[in-house]
Order: sequence, then C-alpha cells, then structure tokens
Amino acid sequence: MDYFDSSGKPCKACFSVEEMMKMSKKFSENKTGETSTKTEINEKTIEKVVEERRAKQCPVDKDELGRSTWNLLHTMAAYYPEKPSIDEKKNMESTLTSLSKTYPCSYCADDFRKDLKVHPPKLENRSELSKWMCEMHNRVNEKLGKDIFDCTKVKERWLDGWKD
Ligand code: FAD
Repeated sequence: MDYFDSSGKPCKACFSVEEMMKMSKKFSENKTGETSTKTEINEKTIEKVVEERRAKQCPVDKDELGRSTWNLLHTMAAYYPEKPSIDEKKNMESTLTSLSKTYPCSYCADDFRKDLKVHPPKLENRSELSKWMCEMHNRVNEKLGKDIFDCTKVKERWLDGWKD
C-alpha cells in the first residue's frame, strides 16, 4: 500500500496534518534523540499549520479530503429524487461503487468497499438514501472514536439548515 512515496514522504490524502506532524516529530526525535521545544506539537501549532496550509492552497490532507467528500455525498443524498428513475438509481449506485475504488486514501477506500458489500446503498428514495449515507458515515465516526450523528437530523443538516 502506497502510504509513503519512494523518498519516504507520506501520502497526504492518507494522513491528517496532525498525524504528519506527529510523524515528523518522531523522525526528528529519532535523529536528535531529544525532544526540543521547537518541535513540540500541541493544538495551537496544529491549528496554525492547518491555517497556513489553507492560505497557501496546499494539497488536501486526509481530514480535509474526508470533509469535502462527506459534503458532496450527503448533499447528493439530500438532493436525490423522491421518486428516482431506474437510471437515476443506477447512476447513484455506480458513483458510490466508483468512489470506493478511486478514493485517494486507500485504506479508507478499502473499508468503504467492504462496508458497501455488507450494507448496499438504499436507493428507493431521498430519505432512505440520506439515512443510509448517515449510517455509513456513522460507522466511520465509530471507527475513529468520534461522536455518532443523530440521523433524524440529516435533513436539517444537509438540506434545510438548522432551526434557530
Ligand atoms: P467529518 O466526519 O468529515 O464530518 C463532516 C460534517 O458532517 C460534520 O461536521 C457533521 O456536521 C456532519 N456529520 C458527521 N457525521 C455525520 C453523519 N453520520 N451523517 C450526516 N452528517 C454527519 N478517516 C480516517 O482516519 N480513517 C478512515 O478509514 C476514513 N474513512 C473514510 C471513508 C470515507 C468514504 C470518507 C468520505 C472519509 C473517511 N475518512 C476516514 C475521513 C473521516 O471520515 C473524516 O472526514 C475526517 O476525519 C474529518 O472529520 P471531521 O471531524 O472534520 O468531520
């Protein structure tokens, strides 16, 4: 699996900035054998690096790629027809299958493919697909130790906007 290129640089789509910074800290510690305050990693330094990367329009890391992809997937589900035609169902299914084969974070894609096999997409209508997408996302959240999203709120989050 290509998590690193031939010169040892990490695949950006496979690691978050935080993970990459922790790795570089480990490497520099290995080299010097001591922890310097300059390389100390805390939330502030990570936030700063994330800000700088955004301002410089750097290539996306794993987390930014994930957020952008979930934005697209949940929005596609939110605008999926109430009564999809056979073609519309097929198009959605092949989009998801293709994504699971081409997603640049390879181990994320592997798990997504496995999950698609166990939980095939529910393509009958908009609300079923939106709920299914929410459950797919929650399985990733669970794996990463993140909060589980309340799937009854999916329409508010991805279509109508939060009620004040
Ligand atoms: P995200 O999880 O990206 O969520 C973005 C927004 O979606 C949230 O702010 C919230 O408002 C909303 N949201 C959260 N959960 C739900 C839900 N269940 N339903 C509807 N809306 C919701 N990262 C890894 O480290 N390992 C992996 O194996 C991995 N696999 C991934 C597989 C796929 C297909 C995708 C698209 C991403 C994957 N990621 C993986 C990335 C990961 O899911 C997150 O995108 C990333 O960690 C950034 O998380 P975040 O906390 O910013 O919010």
